[in-house]
Formats: sequence, structure tokens, C-alpha cells
Amino acid sequence: MKYILVTGGVISGIGKGIIASSVGTILKSCGLHVTSIKIDPYINIDAGTFSPYEHVVPHITDAIQEWVMRQALIPVDEDGLEPQVCVIELGGTVGDIESMPFIEAFRQFQFKVKRENFCNIHVSLVPQPSSTGEQKTKPTQNSVRELRGLGLSPDLVVCRCSNPLDTSVKEKISMFCHVEPEQVICVHDVSSIYRVPLLLEEQGVVDYFLRRLDLPIERQPRKML
Ligand code: ADP
Repeated sequence: MKYILVTGGVISGIGKGIIASSVGTILKSCGLHVTSIKIDPYINIDAGTFSPYEHVVPHITDAIQEWVMRQALIPVDEDGLEPQVCVIELGGTVGDIESMPFIEAFRQFQFKVKRENFCNIHVSLVPQPSSTGEQKTKPTQNSVRELRGLGLSPDLVVCRCSNPLDTSVKEKISMFCHVEPEQVICVHDVSSIYRVPLLLEEQGVVDYFLRRLDLPIERQPRKML
């Protein structure tokens, strides 16, 4: 099983859901069986009404990891076959207190399932204030630093921006977020979100996953895109 975790930084509503579903779509178009999990990090446990015996309950991070692995195996395609890839969207913004147990669970998970089976897409914001018209990289630098501080390193930094990223801005993000330029993906505002899978594909996201996750597919001309 290959796991692709989608996290978000800077603001909520940045487009994690669209990126997660677009990644699923392009991998499905390569013939893979893809499933997905959406995590909304609310922890509805009332410690006051907990049975004292329940503290033997596995640690929350173990419980999250086991739950993810169980969910990922549930067939979702008509042929009933087990999924090969699971795209996991972690709701909220990295650094929020409510998502901390989930981030920590995935920090541990990446070692449990091994590097070739887990990767992280971090969706961040590149604002372009009208005063200067400049695309600003600092919020992305800060949110990647926060993510790394929590033990996850982004494999792809997806930059949400109003206009396509200037090459110099992409290079700056690559330099200061410690990733290769090909790992910086621009997803600007588009008139239809159905264009997002195309934007990802054009920037080599499928080829990247092929290598990074050693996916069992031949690179073929686009089928459905
Ligand atoms: P999140 O999962 O981070 O909360 P969503 O994926 O739900 O964010 O996206 C928030 C809103 O932004 C949605 O209305 C979505 O259609 C819109 N959106 C996301 N990406 C783009 C894009 N590239 N261009 C235009 N609108 C987008």
C-alpha cells in the first residue's frame, strides 16, 4: 500500500481537498486502484466520563495508524480489488493543536510503512498583495519549517496562488524550503477545479510519484486527462 498524506499550511480552505482528489484522479487514470481518507481532526473524547479501565486503550497515535491501515484496505472500485494507493487528506492547518495527534501519528507512520510507501504533499499559500504585486514566499517557508519541526518533510510543496508562479519565486521556495525545483508545484486559481489534475500532470507529478513511490505502472500517454 502506498500512502500519500496531504497537509495544509497558512490558512484553512487552501485547496487540500481539491489537491487530494486531483492526485487520486491522475493516479486512477494511470490504472491504479486508489482510495482516500479525509481526516477532520476533532477529538470527541470526554475524559470526565471515561472509565478508568479505558486508559489501557492503545495510545491515540497507535489507534490512528491502525485505523488508517484498516480503512486503506477497503475496496472502493467496482472490481472489488484492494486499493494500491491511499490519499489521506488531513484537515486543518499544520500547527493547530487539534491536529497534533494526527501529525505525530503520521510522523511515526512514515517509519512504520517505510520511505518508499509514504510521501507528503504540503499545500501552502503564496499571497500576492496588490500593494506591490509581488508573490510572497515567507508564509510557505514558515509553514514548511513548522511541518519539518513536527517531523514531516514535504515531498511536494503545492503552492496555491492567484497567478502562475514566477520562475524566480519557484526557485526561492525550492532554496528556502530545501526541496528540488521539480518538487515545487504551482496550482494557481483556475476557472474550473477540474483543471487542477491537468496542472499537476503538466508539472510532472505522476512521474514524480512513479519514482518516489515506485508505483507499479508504465508511464503511458494520458488516458483520461
Ligand atoms: P480545504 O480542503 O483546504 O479546506 P478545498 O479543497 O475544500 O480546501 O477548497 C476550498 C475552496 O477553494 C473550494 O471552493 C474549491 O473549489 C476552491 N479551490 C481550490 N483550489 C482551487 C483552484 N486551484 N482554483 C480555484 N478554486 C479553487
